[in-house]
Amino acid sequence: MTGRTTQPPVEPDPHSGRERRAVRLRRAAKLTSVVLPVCLIGWLSWQAVANSTRDVTSHPAVSPHYAEGDRVDADGPSDAAAPAGSPSAGAPAPSPSASAAGAANLPLAGRTVLLDPGHNTGNAKHTADINRKVDIGNSRKECDTTGTSTDAGYSEAEYTLDVVHRARQILQDRGATVVLTQDGDRPWGPCIDERARIGNEAKADAAVSIHADGAPASGSGFHVIMPAKVAAGPADTSAIVDPSHRLGVLLRDTFKAQTGEPTSTYIGQQGLDTRSDLGGLNLSKVPKVFIECGNMRNTGDAGRMSDPEWRQRAAQAVADALTSYLTG
Ligand SMILES: [Zn+2]
Repeated sequence: MTGRTTQPPVEPDPHSGRERRAVRLRRAAKLTSVVLPVCLIGWLSWQAVANSTRDVTSHPAVSPHYAEGDRVDADGPSDAAAPAGSPSAGAPAPSPSASAAGAANLPLAGRTVLLDPGHNTGNAKHTADINRKVDIGNSRKECDTTGTSTDAGYSEAEYTLDVVHRARQILQDRGATVVLTQDGDRPWGPCIDERARIGNEAKADAAVSIHADGAPASGSGFHVIMPAKVAAGPADTSAIVDPSHRLGVLLRDTFKAQTGEPTSTYIGQQGLDTRSDLGGLNLSKVPKVFIECGNMRNTGDAGRMSDPEWRQRAAQAVADALTSYLTG
């Protein structure tokens, strides 16, 4: 538009042969100036269509590799999670590759995980309630206990709920439905039999009970507790012993690698223990393990467990072990 106002066309004498040729040339030039841009736009449009067609047809060959390779990695790129203002924000529709990336980042979609934060900060004020005995199959045991604490007064109940909250976020980000036995939302408990029942009723694919130990101060390190074979009264662990063992070994290996915490010096073998006296395991119908993340009575362990960054690593390890278990 700007060119026309600064260079008005001059109409030549139509009777002059030379001018007629000039007119033809000018008309040809005018036509070219119109036709060329139209052709260019057409070519660009065709290229855009061709590119989008190539995208669609090439993705089926690429996506499975991406999905398999990054199945456990929830931190990969995701168009769905792109913040406003990012290059992909406002895109009209996710491409097939974006959908594949979304699926790869939700390896736990459709899975249910039970996280059981041991004890309850209110238990100490409800001794009568938590001391009553409940049936754990092969014996009767206190409903719950107060748990331990560090010398500085950081309680096991606070620790377990904090780690569970951190692990829940990671697991939810991977698509899991996460059920908690308590969320700091009840005055005490629940009892150990109810903790197992919550996982059973949720039909959890896996369950982890988070604890910290209160052993003699000289002992240190973490250990994972797996269910023994118990068949008595309401307890029957025969179906969960093997899968729980697989989960337990994964959790032991992942926790050791990601937190740097050594395995226990005072109990179990290489960080693994098997017990038949825990109601939370005896009554579970879903694969379940306990982890004693360290000894709160030990200075070194207590220092680590009191550090939020270490707790994030502990939670990451729990979430990663569950993810490996559920996708392996
Ligand atoms: Zn405990």
